Amino acid sequence: MKIICKDSTEVIVEIPKGVSKIGVMLSGGMDSSLLLYLLLKEITDNKKNMNLTVFNVPNVLDNAIFFSKRVVNYLEDYFSVKLELINIGDGTLAHNKIIRTPSREIEEKKYVEKLFVGINQNPPVEFPISGPWRRDPDSPIPPFYIFPFIRLYKNHILEMYEKYNIMELCYLTHSCTMSTGIRCNNCFQCYERAWAFEQLNIKDDNKYGT
Ligand SMILES: [Zn+2]
Repeated sequence: MKIICKDSTEVIVEIPKGVSKIGVMLSGGMDSSLLLYLLLKEITDNKKNMNLTVFNVPNVLDNAIFFSKRVVNYLEDYFSVKLELINIGDGTLAHNKIIRTPSREIEEKKYVEKLFVGINQNPPVEFPISGPWRRDPDSPIPPFYIFPFIRLYKNHILEMYEKYNIMELCYLTHSCTMSTGIRCNNCFQCYERAWAFEQLNIKDDNKYGT
C-alpha cells in the first residue's frame, strides 16, 4: 500500500514478492504498533498467505512486554487473527541499543525472511532533551530489513492513525521510555509524542495510562 501524507510525504508498506515469512519488531509504542496494523491490513486486504511473527524486546524500563501484548490483543480482535508474539533480546539494555542485537539474532537464526522495523527520524525541532541516534535515511539498508517509516517524523505516524481511524489503538500505545505506567513527560519520547499531537492539534487521551 502507498499512503500519501498531508505534506506529500509518501509511505510505502509492501511485502516483497516471493516472501512468505515476515517479522515485525514491536515495542508497544506508536511507530511499531502502526506498522503492525498496516502489515496486517496489507495481508488481509490482499488475502495474502503470510506467516507473520511479532518480536518484542522485553524492555524493563518501560514494561514493553505489557504494552506489546496489549497492542497484539487489540489487533488480534480487530483483524480476527492469531499472532505469534516472541520475546527476544536483553531488556535491560539502553533504549537506543535494545533492538540491534535481537534483530541480528532474528536474521542469523532465519526466523523470518524479512524484518520490518518502524524506525523514523527525530523531529526537526529542539526539545529540552536531545534525541537518540537514529539511522540516516540515506544510508544503505541491509537486505534483511524493511524500514517503511525511515523518512518520517512522529506527526506522519499520528496522521496515519487518524487516516485509518485507529486512534483507539494509538491510545493503547506507550511511548515513554522512562516509565512503566503513566508517561513521565520528561523523556525525549514523551516530548516527541506531545509534539506530534500538537502538530495535528489533537488531544492525547491517556485514560489507559500511556
Ligand atoms: Zn517519558
